[in-house]
Amino acid sequence: MSTPPVENVVIVGTGCAGLTAAVYAARANLSPLVLEGPLPGGQLTTTSEVENFPGFPEGVDGFQLMDSLRRQAMKFGARFEQALVQSVDFAASPRRLACGEREVLARAVIVATGASPRMTGILGERELFGGKGVSTCATCDGAFYRKMDVAVIGGGDSAAEEALFLTRFANRVYLVHRRDSLRASRIMSERATSHPKIQLVWNSVPVEAVGVPEGALSGLRVRNVQTGAETVLPVKGVFVAIGHVPNTAAFAPALDVDPNGYFVPSAGSQVRTKVPGVYVAGDCADHVYRQAVTAAGMGCQAAIEAERWLAEHGG
Ligand code: NAP
Repeated sequence: MSTPPVENVVIVGTGCAGLTAAVYAARANLSPLVLEGPLPGGQLTTTSEVENFPGFPEGVDGFQLMDSLRRQAMKFGARFEQALVQSVDFAASPRRLACGEREVLARAVIVATGASPRMTGILGERELFGGKGVSTCATCDGAFYRKMDVAVIGGGDSAAEEALFLTRFANRVYLVHRRDSLRASRIMSERATSHPKIQLVWNSVPVEAVGVPEGALSGLRVRNVQTGAETVLPVKGVFVAIGHVPNTAAFAPALDVDPNGYFVPSAGSQVRTKVPGVYVAGDCADHVYRQAVTAAGMGCQAAIEAERWLAEHGG
C-alpha cells in the first residue's frame, strides 16, 4: 500500500465547529482536508429554524446554514472526504488517523466530532428505532405523524423544541419529563407549557416502547416516579430528546476526556490539547454552552491555533 500524502491540517467533523475551522484554515491557504462522518453538517441539519444564530433576525433553516458554511469552505479550497476515524496515533509525527482500511497523515489536526443523541435504553427503543416509531429527530420524521398522537421524552430545550415542532403535524404531543419543571430556557418552557396541543406528563420516566413483536410502535409505557403507577400513552411516535453523548471514543486514549467523555482542553485554552498541533472544537469539547455560535467560535480558534502552529513548525 502506498504511503498517503501528509496533509497540512485535517479537520474531523462537518458540524458548525468543523466547517468554521475549514473556512478559516482554507482562507489561510492551508488547503484543509475535512473528514465527513455519519451526519454531514452535524446536529444543525436535524433542527428546523435556528433563531439565535447572530445575523439572522428572521431565523435561518439549520440545513441551509450548514450548506452555506460548507460552500463557503469549499470556495476557499477546503477538500471534503467521507471517512470515519476509528483510532489515532498522536504520538507519531506526522499524526496518524486510521479510517478503516485507510490511513490519513496530518501535521495538524482539529477534532470537531460533535455529540450524538443520548438514548434511554428502555425496552423496545433499539428495535423500533428508525422508521418504526422511535426517533431522535422531529425535523426528519415529524411529518410521518400527521394527525397522530406522539410523545417526546426529556425536559430541556431540545425536548421543548421537538414538542413544539411536532405540534405542526400531530394531534397531541405528550411531553414526558422525569421531574415537575422543565430544564429548558424560560421562553421555550413557556411556549411548550402553554401550547394547547402539548400535554405535560410530569414526574414520569419511560419504561418501554411498546410494539416490538408487531414491528411498529403502538404506545409508550411510562412510570410515575412518585406513585410507581405505570400507564401506556397511546402514541404512534416517540421522540427521544434527553441530551447528547460526545463523539470522542476514537480519540480518547490519545486525548484527555472527562468522566462524561468530553475532551478536556489544556489549561488556559478552550481548544488546545496536550498533543502539540492537535486541537478540539465544538460540542465534543463543550458541555457548558453547546450552541451553534460557540461551536463556530471554537472552530475559528482551533484553525487560528493550527495555522500559527504550522507556521512555527514548518507547515
Ligand atoms: P439537556 O439540556 O441536557 O436536557 C436533557 C433533558 O433530558 C433534561 O431535562 C433531563 O432531565 C432529561 N434526561 C436526561 N437523561 C434522561 C433519562 N435517562 N431519562 C429521562 N430523562 C432524561 O439537553 P438538550 O435539551 O439537548 O440541550 C442541550 C443544550 O443545547 C442546552 O444547552 C440547550 O440550551 C441547547 N439547546 C438550545 C436550543 C435553543 O436555544 N433553541 C435548542 C436545543 C438545545 P433533568 O432536567 O431532570 O436533568
